[in-house]
Amino acid sequence: MEELFATDKTRDLLPRIKEFLVKEIYPLETAKNITGKFSELAVILDQKRELVKQLGLWGLQHTEEEGGHGLTLCEFGQVSEVLASTPFGHYTFNCQAPDIGNMELIGKYASQAIKDEYLHPLIQGKIRSCFSMTEPDYAGSNPVNMGTTAVRDGDEYVINGRKWFTSSADGAAFAVVMAVTNPDASPHKRASQIIVPTNTKGFKIERNICIMGDHEADHWSSHAEVTYTDVRVPVSNLIAAEGMGFMLAQERLGPGRIHHCMRWIGTSERCLDLMCRRAATRDMGDGTMLGEKQIVQFWIAESRAEIDAARLMVLRTADNIDKFGASAVRNQISEIKFFCAKIMLDVIDRAIQTYGAYGITDDLLLSFWYRHERGARIYDGADEVHKSALARSILAGYGLETKKKKSSDEAVVAFSR
Ligand SMILES: Cc1cc2nc3c(=O)[nH]c(=O)nc-3n(C[C@H](O)[C@H](O)[C@H](O)COP(=O)(O)OP(=O)(O)OC[C@H]3O[C@@H](n4cnc5c(N)ncnc54)[C@H](O)[C@@H]3O)c2cc1C
Repeated sequence: MEELFATDKTRDLLPRIKEFLVKEIYPLETAKNITGKFSELAVILDQKRELVKQLGLWGLQHTEEEGGHGLTLCEFGQVSEVLASTPFGHYTFNCQAPDIGNMELIGKYASQAIKDEYLHPLIQGKIRSCFSMTEPDYAGSNPVNMGTTAVRDGDEYVINGRKWFTSSADGAAFAVVMAVTNPDASPHKRASQIIVPTNTKGFKIERNICIMGDHEADHWSSHAEVTYTDVRVPVSNLIAAEGMGFMLAQERLGPGRIHHCMRWIGTSERCLDLMCRRAATRDMGDGTMLGEKQIVQFWIAESRAEIDAARLMVLRTADNIDKFGASAVRNQISEIKFFCAKIMLDVIDRAIQTYGAYGITDDLLLSFWYRHERGARIYDGADEVHKSALARSILAGYGLETKKKKSSDEAVVAFSR
């Protein structure tokens, strides 16, 4: 962990969280739990959630008024890294995506009635939620382009559309849906975010999309295709105001990317640990250990340097968001997104190679992460979108105004899970 960004709160919390994970959660990382039905594992994890509450470690991301610890983004990022050392960490502490983003958004922008009905049970871990924006028929990298509509009819919105990659929809109590409410407005003011309880007539999970062999039914990290057919909800389910959908999406992007990046760093750190354990103990039968091979040493050294660099970049960005706001450090946010996604996937791949055949079995966490984290280069703005946006911004400083600036800026709004 990075002492440079340590505070009294992180010095107190991080060792306690780590100790809890090692004692209570790491023993659950069995092949059965990793590949089995999440609903069965959730019964055990819910008991662990009670322990987290008893230890006073619940809701770390919330403000003190909401019963949390009032952590800054930079402090919570460090918590997120520790939690990500195990696939079950964030869920056990109730700060898993997309709930954490929805909690932030609803907490900041929704009416008191919505908070009472949806936010408080979410904070208590009694329900889960999802965020429904991407559509199969439209390029998600340019999200102003969308087919789902919400048409006002008296005191209700009538929603129609088809979404996919609505993560966690299976088992969620409600979805935050992005839909066009003002088709004649300028592109960024056309859409709104509306809460739709998943038991509303016309809300249908068509399927949990099979991802690299995983169906993940009833899993907090499943990805569903969802149709909305004449779904009627009260207009009071609108978050903030009509036409503010993209502003709200932007709002969750800055902190959301810190959460993701620190999660990826925590996962990378655990994979490096696993890699080193194997390198130090695998006897090659010729009087040498695997870790004596120069290529393995290179993998370890490169991984160490990349993780350390990534952590410093992300914590610097988080600290700047805390001080100056997300829009002031937009370039840094783009930098960390593609840099961290790549280094994590490289570290996971090297760790698998170090283990040989064992590396691709579900006896280890590596294959789980290999499957689940490939999407990191796609969601939260595809890496290429961030690279283009960053390069254009740099080149603008050299007097080069690129023709596509406007549409690409729109693309950066791409969804944060
Ligand atoms: C694991 C996972 C979870 C997700 N969870 C959710 C969720 O909960 N809710 C939700 O609404 N959505 C979710 N998404 C969807 C995600 O937001 C979209 O996949 C993303 O915005 C990209 O959109 P797309 O898939 O339509 O790709 P497209 O927009 O079709 O882009 C395809 C590819 O084109 C390239 N590309 C795109 N734009 C540019 C550019 N400007 N310059 C250069 N290259 C470019 C990139 O390589 C990109 O990967 C999730 C996706 C994944 C993988």
